[in-house]
Amino acid sequence: MIQRTPARIEAHLSDHEHRSWQQVLSESVTCPEELLRRLELPAESWLSAAQQGHQLFSIRVPEPFLARMKKGNPADPLLRQVLPLADETDHAPGFVSDPLEESAAIATTGLIRKYRSRALLMVTGQCAVNCRYCFRRHFPYEDQRLSPDDRKRVINTLAASPEINEVIFSGGDPLAVNDRLLAQWVTAISGIPHIRRLRLHTRLPVVIPQRVCDELLTWLSATSLQVVIVLHVNHPAEIDTATRRALGHLRAAGVTLLNQSVILRGVNDCPSVLEQLSETLFDAGVLPYYLHAFDPVAGAHHYDVPDEESRHLVRELLTRLPGFLVPKLVREEPGKECKTPINLFP
Ligand code: SF4
Repeated sequence: MIQRTPARIEAHLSDHEHRSWQQVLSESVTCPEELLRRLELPAESWLSAAQQGHQLFSIRVPEPFLARMKKGNPADPLLRQVLPLADETDHAPGFVSDPLEESAAIATTGLIRKYRSRALLMVTGQCAVNCRYCFRRHFPYEDQRLSPDDRKRVINTLAASPEINEVIFSGGDPLAVNDRLLAQWVTAISGIPHIRRLRLHTRLPVVIPQRVCDELLTWLSATSLQVVIVLHVNHPAEIDTATRRALGHLRAAGVTLLNQSVILRGVNDCPSVLEQLSETLFDAGVLPYYLHAFDPVAGAHHYDVPDEESRHLVRELLTRLPGFLVPKLVREEPGKECKTPINLFP
């Protein structure tokens, strides 16, 4: 039977991990020089492009994620996700600022309606890590900042929409918000009879495992809503001992854990990496859920992997893994009411 009480986390942490998640978040690396210095990469080769990219979309890398990168290796798959390259300043045809046309799906400030039974709540625009390939890297978060009146309007909209049975906390990263505010949202949402599930899309338990703190586990354990957390892990090296421990606490609190990845050139465009990713996730109690085709966002064309190559990767996974460890290959298309499965055998 699943335990739904907060875990005693403190007893299992090393001295290094005793800092609060807020402290770790505030101490993230946010400047190109510091990132290169910490990873022992020569400034003459990387700094100019990193500074230009940083002007377009700021660098943010939290310490626990940085600590998993190999020094002196510019091809490190974790570094590849956060280091701006010269390609970011290219203007590639077809790569746009709002590739999923989400601006057309805003129902009321902070609330996105793309799907009939699910609504996305933009809890915050802040993230713990700024991923260079993010399809929301140009998203106007300032316009979606929620005032107290906006929050009431969101709850009223959800209450007046009986077709919605699931609310997805999105962002930004919803776990970048403090637990008091999250618990208030959850209390208000759980009072709406037709809403059964709460989903959170987050990278925080992976990039700052300290985020899985007693306060978070307390409200997760207490809510009457079924809670699903969809992580975003792209490479097996993102999961270390502290992450596994944090994910164990979430499972003990009754949370269902899934993962979605994006196929990214130079990060995970290799069957062995994807195979190892599924195995590592499952060892940590997480089921692979989606493998997303790259969303064509401006400034990130160098991550793109053609469909034919993605199909080949997943066909190879089918021969190496049991079916439940093979994520669904999908693409999100603007205006569609669901993800579009990519046919593996066209
Ligand atoms: S929204 Fe997700 S993918 Fe985008 S920068 Fe934040 S953590 Fe990364």
